[in-house]
Amino acid sequence: MPLFKPNYYLSGISDLTPRRLSFWGIKGLILDVDNTLAAQDDPHLPKEIDTWLKAAKEMHLPMIILSNNKPERVAPFAKKVGLPFVARAAKPLPFGFAKGVKLLGLKKESVAAVGDQILTDIIGSNLCGVKSILTDPLKEETEGFLAAKRRWQKNYLNRKKLTPLEKEQEGLL
Ligand SMILES: [Mg+2]
Repeated sequence: MPLFKPNYYLSGISDLTPRRLSFWGIKGLILDVDNTLAAQDDPHLPKEIDTWLKAAKEMHLPMIILSNNKPERVAPFAKKVGLPFVARAAKPLPFGFAKGVKLLGLKKESVAAVGDQILTDIIGSNLCGVKSILTDPLKEETEGFLAAKRRWQKNYLNRKKLTPLEKEQEGLL
């Protein structure tokens, strides 16, 4: 398994349907925050994500938040969505992911981590041995280091001809 390559690539977390979770053998999730569940440093929870989170909770899917951002950002957001969290996770180092797996109380083979960045979320998941799910960013970065990483990632995905799975693909609605 190449370190940079996600197991699955979706346009957004809302495309992670119950059928996909079951088909892919996923029993618990480690979730990134910035640009996966909300825009970068934005406390607002988009409606579509809110709906998805509520549905996931209704099916009693164990979930934990794992973010590289500071506790001042992550704690209020985690409280808003009612999930436990690990902040300053130092992704792509695998330790935060291992901690997440432990807190979920599941085997790592049945855990997937979802995030928008190959260089943190996907490499870290692959190093730890959980399944990796890449999503497109909620909002594309335009400046600084994050924009540079985003350019690199877009080039990588283009080069590897990786595109997000359609909702209808594989009959997995
Ligand atoms: Mg992110």
